Amino acid sequence: MLGARPKKSIPAPPEARARNPWIRICNSGIHGRGVFAARAIPKDTRILAYYGERITKTESLRRAVERLERARKRGGGAVYIFDLNSRHDIDGAFPWNKARLVNHSCEPNCEAQNIRGKIWVVALRDIAAGEELTYDYGYELEHWEDHPCRCGTPSCPGYIVHRKYRGLLRRNLARRAARKTTS
Ligand SMILES: [Zn+2]
Repeated sequence: MLGARPKKSIPAPPEARARNPWIRICNSGIHGRGVFAARAIPKDTRILAYYGERITKTESLRRAVERLERARKRGGGAVYIFDLNSRHDIDGAFPWNKARLVNHSCEPNCEAQNIRGKIWVVALRDIAAGEELTYDYGYELEHWEDHPCRCGTPSCPGYIVHRKYRGLLRRNLARRAARKTTS
């Protein structure tokens, strides 16, 4: 994912610096660099954690707005902020947070799960060595045009939106295409 430039202002937690035997960072066919399975990963494995800075909801909103504005001017659009609980979020826009490189797919092999206050990228199925790890970013429909998707899976509408909006978006895109050919 590209977009917000990671800051280097806070030091990496020791766990984030430890070598993770499950993963390899490589160039991705979907977008930029991605995270790949370094070996076969069984279903339900907690593969890597989404590390970052714990921030309040107010600070989270401020950073999200700032990054979206910047991303709109320069392209991209990643915000790197995860909902943690009712009061706090996790800002993962740091180079040592490898989980920020996990790309979106409309048919993902992983899921981001909040397990006792820690965000984990968890395997949804058995994953073969060499497969790129992906999860569903689950974006709202707002600003869908800013987030093109190149996952290439059969259910991909061409943009990153939550599963529940994909049918609607596909119908709207078809209608728009039909209007273009008739006018
Ligand atoms: Zn897609």
